[in-house]
Amino acid sequence: MTTFYLDMDGVVADWDTAAEQFLGVPFRSKPRYGEYRVTSQEWDRLRAQHRFYRDLPLMAQCEQLVNLARNYRDQLGWQLLFLTAVPHNNDQPWAFSDKVLWAQERFPDIAVHFGPHSTDKWRHCEPGDILVDDRGDNCAAWRAAGGTAFKVNDRDLLLTIEAVTADLASRINDPTRQLALDIY
Ligand SMILES: [Mg+2]
Repeated sequence: MTTFYLDMDGVVADWDTAAEQFLGVPFRSKPRYGEYRVTSQEWDRLRAQHRFYRDLPLMAQCEQLVNLARNYRDQLGWQLLFLTAVPHNNDQPWAFSDKVLWAQERFPDIAVHFGPHSTDKWRHCEPGDILVDDRGDNCAAWRAAGGTAFKVNDRDLLLTIEAVTADLASRINDPTRQLALDIY
């Protein structure tokens, strides 16, 4: 079964805004802020906030993106999952359960799968699977594994929504798919 995977942090969960507020560091002032990584000192402060992942705000326009992704499941028969990661040292023991709780409260129809680490995400890719992610390295590895990746740039979902909308329309209007449906 073909799968549509949605990353969580930076795609549906606004990790950056919560971290900026907690740390008092405006990531927007950093060069290439969409790819900004916190320092190890900043991370130590964040991970000491044990339930940091529990109440992250929603990304602006994420409902629109999730509804688009639901169309792959409901109209094309795909599987729809979140594909998230825990911190690379696995040094935030609440991350697993709080990410699941967060998603189940907001999007109860979408289960959460874990890389478990960011660099493992591509291992979930079967050829043709789609990933929406805000990390360029994850998207590149996904494409190398035979999937289609849509990268969220500069923490703004608008262009991603446009690209996924066009992709969905091309699949729904695909004449070969229509033929297959007619046969059955
Ligand atoms: Mg992300």
